[in-house]
Amino acid sequence: MYQTTFTPLSCYSVMKIRFACGLLFNCCLLLNSCSAQQKKSPAKIGPTMEMPGKNNPVYSRTDSNRVNLSEEEWKKILPADVFYIAREKGTERPWSSSIEHSTEVGTYYCKACGNPLFKSDTKFESGCGWPSFFDPIKKGSLLYLRDRSHGMDRTEVQCGRCKAHLGHVFEDGPPPTGLRYCINGVILDFEKSSPKK
Ligand SMILES: [Zn+2]
Repeated sequence: MYQTTFTPLSCYSVMKIRFACGLLFNCCLLLNSCSAQQKKSPAKIGPTMEMPGKNNPVYSRTDSNRVNLSEEEWKKILPADVFYIAREKGTERPWSSSIEHSTEVGTYYCKACGNPLFKSDTKFESGCGWPSFFDPIKKGSLLYLRDRSHGMDRTEVQCGRCKAHLGHVFEDGPPPTGLRYCINGVILDFEKSSPKK
């Protein structure tokens, strides 16, 4: 009896919270883009149609050597939306990535350098608005940094090879790790696993 009344109410509450969060985020985005316009042209945020690694000499899915480029060099080789997330620690709009609900089987790579980051079998639906994973391919695939920006105390996650900003990790994920890696879809390249013969 409690179940039937609780479920629609909680769904409605979640929708209201999502709507409010969306509005708040849009306002923040608007404020950010307004202040950015005073300094420089804002980078466009949106899906990129570029092929993986196109015009990017450091992109490799097998080379694990660290990549160390200047911001100017990154700007020349990354699409604007990837540069905004990777190098300017940007955040894509919640629920804007088609990857968030993808259930395809394969591997997710860093779009800036090709480093393998996550396998699809560690991906889960968190409902937070961004693609979520509970474990990286290897602990060394990522770097962890304390992020106290925006009045919050969070752990930022960067690519272990090129130091691209990926997103954040939170301790409210599912078993077995209990972690939720909340990652911008723009910085992920996906390759489907080839079917087993
Ligand atoms: Zn990378």
